[in-house]
Amino acid sequence: MTECKHCEVISKKENLVYEDNEIVAFLSKEPASIGHIIILPREHRTILEQMTTSEISKMFVISNKLSAAEFGSLGLGGTNLIVNNGVAAGQEVPHVAMHLIPRMQQGDNLKLEWQPKQLSEEEKSIAEIKLKEGASKIMIGTAHKREVVVKDDQTPIVPEERSGENYLEKDFERIP
Ligand SMILES: [Zn+2]
Repeated sequence: MTECKHCEVISKKENLVYEDNEIVAFLSKEPASIGHIIILPREHRTILEQMTTSEISKMFVISNKLSAAEFGSLGLGGTNLIVNNGVAAGQEVPHVAMHLIPRMQQGDNLKLEWQPKQLSEEEKSIAEIKLKEGASKIMIGTAHKREVVVKDDQTPIVPEERSGENYLEKDFERIP
């Protein structure tokens, strides 16, 4: 018997609408609206940063397909795709999940809006500097070229293979 609410749903296959080897989707037992679906990794991952790049990509692709399916079947005005990443962000179950929330054309009284905050110029520039520094270390796939060193004997030395995923985990490690 597992203690994780989401792992339990996955193992019991309750209200599943989609499953493959990495991603599972089920209808929420506490829906914000009709057709509220929860899409999540099959493996227990506490927060987004613990998921593999493949799981994250697939979770979004499946969410998009389910969203499209709901547009066709429920006659929606829109959908919200939300990940509450961490307790401070409102995450209630310690198993990361994407919420696909159908929205009705004529208004459905769901309140997800916020009032824009007024930041000082100093606050804005500090955030920009810190984020740019962090973002400059992001490497995904082969988007960034690796430097090739040519030694005297003309044998090119390619730096040790470093996958984008490992690199990200190393630099953005976060304990839930
Ligand atoms: Zn779990």
